Amino acid sequence: MKITNAKVIVCSPGRNFVTLKIYTDQGVYGLGDATLNGMEKAVVSYLEDYCIPSLIGKDPRNTEDIWQYFYRGVYWRRGAVSMTAVSAIDMALWDIKGKMLNTPLYNLLGGKSREKVMVYCHANGKDLSETMEKVGSEINKGFKAVRVQSGVPGIEHTYGVSKDSKFYEPAHKGLPHEESWETSKYLNFVPTLFKKVRELYGDNIHLLHDAHHRCSPIEASRLAQELEPYHLFWLEDPVSGELQEGLRLIRQHSTTPIAIGEVFNSIYDYTTLITEQLIDYIRMPLVHGGGITHLLKVAAMASVYQINTGFHGATDLSPVNLAAAIHFNTAVNNFGIQEYMPHQEIVNEVFKTNYRFDDGFLTIDDSPGIGVDIDEKAALKFPYSMARLPVNRKTDGTMFNW
Ligand SMILES: [Mg+2]
Repeated sequence: MKITNAKVIVCSPGRNFVTLKIYTDQGVYGLGDATLNGMEKAVVSYLEDYCIPSLIGKDPRNTEDIWQYFYRGVYWRRGAVSMTAVSAIDMALWDIKGKMLNTPLYNLLGGKSREKVMVYCHANGKDLSETMEKVGSEINKGFKAVRVQSGVPGIEHTYGVSKDSKFYEPAHKGLPHEESWETSKYLNFVPTLFKKVRELYGDNIHLLHDAHHRCSPIEASRLAQELEPYHLFWLEDPVSGELQEGLRLIRQHSTTPIAIGEVFNSIYDYTTLITEQLIDYIRMPLVHGGGITHLLKVAAMASVYQINTGFHGATDLSPVNLAAAIHFNTAVNNFGIQEYMPHQEIVNEVFKTNYRFDDGFLTIDDSPGIGVDIDEKAALKFPYSMARLPVNRKTDGTMFNW
């Protein structure tokens, strides 16, 4: 069996998506998500100019060897752009493998460890009262876990909160927007936010919060400690991921569970955090973390230390990644939770999906492989349109983490 061709499909139904389609001499093709929010064309170039020529002629069943070829075989390895390309290749090959064996992907990963996977949604509002309304409406939709973000008094634009209170989409057309930040105002406000949620909605809902890399280790320690009475499911990205030692300080001060790594792309980003048990959930998604082949190894290592998966799953990842993640989450023992922001309706014109949301959980059907298809004619109706993630400055103008 041989790979005969591969192509990259870029489309923008509401937002940009990059999809890799790999063809074989058996008439079977596979799809992989290659979307890297705000850096889409860099991945397209890496795939088209450097990866696809080397793929032609390889046996698509050799997922391990091909993964090693595009990782170990590359001198300038790792990094978000190249690992997203490796992920897309790997995902498409597992899709082909499932289709060739006429079985859903989860069966190739160990079969079902559960029938359905718990997801968390986003509730965000411009102020405390709007955020409380949003939390209530998400609970009414059946969600058992809600990520709560709110506008902070005194800060003009806060991460995770949409300006027009419609769908939250951080990437904007054209050059990056500038947002503003003041950590002291944020730290004073967040415990009040979660106190209010617990008062209104009780203890039977899982609550999550994303600090989005904005705190120093001691600030994050204070936040995690002050949130303890509200029993968060997790506090996400309390410090920037580069400073792994920073997580030690948080652990010394708090029992609030920690999730980190949506911007990670290698098992080497996690080794200290896992072996020192500095975190509780791994956030690195299949699409940026080297695909199924690599995440199986990360999840296996994490499982030894009783650390669970909690994959990034915002709308900046395509339905191909989401479906692959549901298969993965259905199969691995140490599944924790899956982030789920439903895509806009228009996305369904291009991607034909095989998963279903019901009462707080996602399920996947028995279609062979990953089970998502792309309508290339429909994709042509939505050409790429440059959109970038914001940049962030402190209120005095200093550049800061977004
Ligand atoms: Mg996040």
